[in-house]
Amino acid sequence: MVAIVKEKPGIGFSLKRVPVPNELGPHDVLVKVKRASICGTDIHIYDWDRWSQERIRPPQIGGHEFTGEVVTTGKEVTSVSIGDSVVSETHIPCQKCLQCRTGKMHICKNTQILGVHRDGVFAEYVRVPEVVLWKVDPSIRPEYASIMEPFGNAVHTALVTDLTGKNVLITGAGPIGVMAAAVAKVAGAAQVIVSEIKEFRKDLARKMGADVVIDPTEEDLPSRVRAFTEDNGADVL
Ligand SMILES: [Zn+2]
Ligand SMILES: [Zn+2]
Repeated sequence: MVAIVKEKPGIGFSLKRVPVPNELGPHDVLVKVKRASICGTDIHIYDWDRWSQERIRPPQIGGHEFTGEVVTTGKEVTSVSIGDSVVSETHIPCQKCLQCRTGKMHICKNTQILGVHRDGVFAEYVRVPEVVLWKVDPSIRPEYASIMEPFGNAVHTALVTDLTGKNVLITGAGPIGVMAAAVAKVAGAAQVIVSEIKEFRKDLARKMGADVVIDPTEEDLPSRVRAFTEDNGADVL
């Protein structure tokens, strides 16, 4: 199969022919990747900055956000079947440590991130354990399904507290910030205020439901927020 590989320490990725993962454990699933998306983490790895140098052990396939179709399942897989459209959590839990065994797999102390600690999804096929897979409605376009992981971040972050009737301030209209703006509106926020300096991202924030977008390089953010909130300030940051 073709894959985008961090071949050796240094800047860049290489397009390579590599073997399709062929050894499936009993709970492993082989997924044919339909779409993958590029996260800021992948840019760090491309650039080979200090963060990457401390974590990445080349050669390794990059990428962690994707959607695809199940093509092979391990002997004991029960939660997905061949042909299912799936998306995946990007952190693979060990399922053995204290955190995993007490219902906190998201903070597994041995977590392995796809494309960071093990081969990732910038490839035609990827092998993942069934525990991280979620079936996704195949009517959702794959380019949208591919960003379920950052979208999940936005949903989780926005719903940590009750937003009904609250004034919410989101600092930065990156992908997760703009998705959080939409979630906050749906969750009943009174006003969603976004601070952002780039024109392109300001427009995105407005399209996604921000009531007010403030550029902190042009206006004083705290006083503008107070002006929009009857001098009360934001309830949720
Ligand atoms: Zn990411
Ligand atoms: Zn664990």
